Parts: sequence; C-alpha cells; structure tokens
Amino acid sequence: MLEIKNLSVNIKDKTILQDLNLTIKDGEVHVLMGLNGTGKSTLVKAISGHFDCEVTQGSIQYNKKELLKLDASQRANEGIFMSFQNPVEIPGVNNNYFLKSALNEKRQYQKQTPLNAAEFIKYIKEITSKYNIDNAILKRDVNDGFSGGEKKRNEILQLLTLKPDFIMLDEIDSGLDIDALKIVANSVNSLLDGKRSLLMITHYERLLDFIKPDFVHILSGGKIIKTGDYSLALEIEKNGYEAFGVSHDS
Ligand code: ADP
Ligand code: MG
Repeated sequence: MLEIKNLSVNIKDKTILQDLNLTIKDGEVHVLMGLNGTGKSTLVKAISGHFDCEVTQGSIQYNKKELLKLDASQRANEGIFMSFQNPVEIPGVNNNYFLKSALNEKRQYQKQTPLNAAEFIKYIKEITSKYNIDNAILKRDVNDGFSGGEKKRNEILQLLTLKPDFIMLDEIDSGLDIDALKIVANSVNSLLDGKRSLLMITHYERLLDFIKPDFVHILSGGKIIKTGDYSLALEIEKNGYEAFGVSHDS
C-alpha cells in the first residue's frame, strides 16, 4: 500500500527525517514510537502533504502512485487520512457541514454522486448511533471549545465518515480516559477489514492492548532504527529507549 524510500524532510530549514525507509502492506498495522521531538508527527504530516513539511529527497508511493506529486486534498481524496496530534479549532465552520463537504469532495473525486443534505444526515446518524457518539457534536463548530478528549473523538468521527484506505493516527490515545479509549479502539478496529492499513503513533502500550500491531518501529535520528513486533512496545514500556542507544542528548 505504502512504500517510503530514502525520505528526507525539513521543517523550517531543519532536517527532521533523513533517508527514512518504510513499507506498509495491505491490511497491516504499524506503530511508530520514539522520544518527543524525534519527528514522528513530521512523518505522518509528510505522508498527508501538510504544508509544514518540505520534502528534500525520496519518494512516497501509495498504491504505486507518487504521493509527492499530489497536494494534501488530493491525497485525502485518494484515501489517505491523518488524525492530528493537536486537532485545530475552526470557529464558524459547522461540524456537520465540514464532514459533509469532506465526504462529498471525496465522493466526487472518486466519481460517486455526492450525498444531499437528507442522505448525509441519515449516513452520519447511522455512524453516531452505531458508535455511541452524541449527535450534539454535529451541531457545534469544528473542535471549537472542545475538550482534549472531545477533539480526539471528533477525529474518530471524521475517520468513520470518510472510511479511508490508509489511516494514520497521531497520539489518538493521549488524554483519553479508559472508556473513551475503548470507543476509539472499537471504531478503528471496525474499519480494519484486512485491506485497510494503519500507522499509529503512541507513547503507551495500553492502546496496543486494544489494537494489535503487526510491526512496532522506533524512530530516532531521522530514521527508523529498530523494527519488531508487539513485544518491542512492551520492552520500551518496561525499559525506556536508552536500551536501544536512544537518549534525549543524541
Ligand atoms: P514528535 O512528533 O516525534 O514529537 P515532531 O515531528 O512534532 O516530533 O517534531 C520534530 C521536530 O520538528 C521538533 O524539534 C519540533 O520542534 C520541530 N517542529 C515541528 N513542527 C514545527 C514547526 N511548525 N515549526 C518549527 N519547528 C517545528
Ligand atoms: Mg508528535
């Protein structure tokens, strides 16, 4: 599904990722871990086409298409999704309108007829009732005045609305209580049909109790320095990163 080769990314003239390689196949669940500030968010932002990132080298192929030639909205319409570590508040933009526009943009791009207002209401209410999400969230402006947990749940509502093929979740578990975490994990798991792939960033092994990874990667010095299975996350949780030669001073 995704093949990243020799990727180097600058943010404001500072090199954050250097010569990074990563392959994600259909249906796989990958976890990216690493110290604060190592570039985990930078990687998912670079894949989604975020304006912060300047790609100076390499390629990102998605289903054999070069993503670097597409802008962020084209990538989203192709089926790529990123939930923000810090979701942005957009006062003045109604959440229902926002979700409907995003879905219809994607439908049009994929040559499907857009949903009208009534069809969309039916579509979104099926989702909110299936996943126990309060419909009040639809009437509010996007993330405006939302608590940290509500913002994360709104990212999940976007995910469930768009049903992307390649899902990236940046610290979706941060700030969630255990009940909210279970709802988030259930939502994500319900989309994992063996074809969709998932790349998630987390600091905590707790999330991986609910969403089982195939691969766990450690990012350091702009590259993936170690790849393992679930047991690598357990090892990190127990011993920290120092055992892998990673420290805050490096
Ligand atoms: P992580 O997600 O691993 O904690 P990030 O990818 O967010 O790390 O950040 C990597 C580095 O890039 C950090 O040193 C961070 O301060 C810097 N950085 C990220 N975004 C910006 C920005 N918009 N302006 C300046 N520096 C940034
Ligand atoms: Mg981050």
